[in-house]
Amino acid sequence: RDFEIDGVQETNINVVVRCRGRNEREVRENSAVVVSTEAVKGKVVELSMGPSALSNKTYNFDRVFSPAADQGMIYDDVVKPILEEMLSGYNCTIFAYGQTGTGKTYTMSGDMDDTFGLLSDAAGIIPRVLHSLFNKLDTEDTESFVKCSFIELYNEELRDLMSVEENAKLKIFDDASRKGHATTVVQGMEEAHIRNAAEGIKLLQEGSLKRQVAATKCNDLSSRSHTVFTITACVKRAGEDGEDWVSAGKLNLVDLAGSENIQRSGAENKRAAEAGLINKSLLTLGRVINALVDRSSHIPYRESKLTRLLQDSLGGRTKTCIIATISPAKSNLEETISTLDYAFRAK
Ligand code: ADP
Ligand code: MG
Repeated sequence: RDFEIDGVQETNINVVVRCRGRNEREVRENSAVVVSTEAVKGKVVELSMGPSALSNKTYNFDRVFSPAADQGMIYDDVVKPILEEMLSGYNCTIFAYGQTGTGKTYTMSGDMDDTFGLLSDAAGIIPRVLHSLFNKLDTEDTESFVKCSFIELYNEELRDLMSVEENAKLKIFDDASRKGHATTVVQGMEEAHIRNAAEGIKLLQEGSLKRQVAATKCNDLSSRSHTVFTITACVKRAGEDGEDWVSAGKLNLVDLAGSENIQRSGAENKRAAEAGLINKSLLTLGRVINALVDRSSHIPYRESKLTRLLQDSLGGRTKTCIIATISPAKSNLEETISTLDYAFRAK
C-alpha cells in the first residue's frame, strides 16, 4: 500500500488527555466535578457516573493532565519529543480534539503575545514550538530553512488564513509527481519563509484574527471549522557518503472542530453526515486513525479534505499525537464520555 515503507507500516499515535478546571459558568451552576485524574498518576481518567464508586468508568491513556498542568508542562511532556522527531525528518501532527469550550485553542495557540521575544505563561503549543525550533536551529552550525502555512477548513472548503485576499479559497489535488508515496498539493496556498519565531507568531496572530472576524459573521464557524498551522524545517547536514542532505520534517498543528459536531452509531450517522449535520472531516479523521491503529489494508484518506490534506503526515513513518481536551463538570459528562471514547479508540 501507499504508506508502507520498506514493507513496514509503523503507526505511532500517542493519545493524551487534558482536563481543564471548572469555568465560571460551571461553578455558578454548581455543576459537580465528575472527572478525576488522580487514580493512577498521570495515566488514568476516572468518571463518576453515579452515587456509587462501583459505577465509575475508567480510561487509560498515554498521559493524563489534571487541571493543575500548565502550558509549559504540556509542551515539555508532549510536544518537545515531537519537535525532535520533526527535526530528524519525520512528518508529525498534533491534534487538539474536544468539545467546544474545553481548551483546544488555548492548548494549541493560547496567549500569542511575544513582546520583546518573551512568551507568556499562557502561551500555547504553536508559539512555544516556534521559539524552541529557532533556539535549536540558531545554536546549530548548519544552514536551515523554515516555512509555514496556515489554513482553515470549513464545510469541506479550504481557506487560506495567510492570504491577503478576503476569502481565498484553495483547491486540493493529488500530486502525481511523487511516485510511491501518494500525497496532495494545495494549489495557491501561501507558504511563508520565516527567519525567526516572531515572524511565525505574527502569521499565527494575523491568521487567527481573520478566523475570529469570519466567526463573528457566521456563528457556528468557530466550532465547526478546523485550522491547520504547518511548520516545515529543512536542515542541511553532512551525509555519511560526503554528500549533504536536507531533512525536511513537517509539523502540523491542528485545532479541530468541536467534537460535539460528530455523533456515534452507524446508519443514523450516515444520514446525518449526508445532510451536512456532521462534520465530515472530523468523522473521517476518526475512521482513518482507527484504520491505522487496526493496521487495516484500506485507509480512507480520500473521504475528507482534512485527511487528504494530512495524508503524508498520517500513517507510514510519521508521528501523531492527539490531545483530547475535556471539562470536569457534570453538565458536560455526556460529551466528555464521547470525547474519551473517540480518543481511546485511537490508542
Ligand atoms: P475551545 O477552543 O476548545 O472551544 P478554548 O480554548 O477557547 O476552547 O477555551 C475556552 C475558554 O477556557 C477560554 O477562555 C480559555 O482561555 C479557557 N481555558 C481552556 N483551557 C484552559 C486551561 N487549561 N487553563 C486555563 N484556561 C483555560
Ligand atoms: Mg477554539
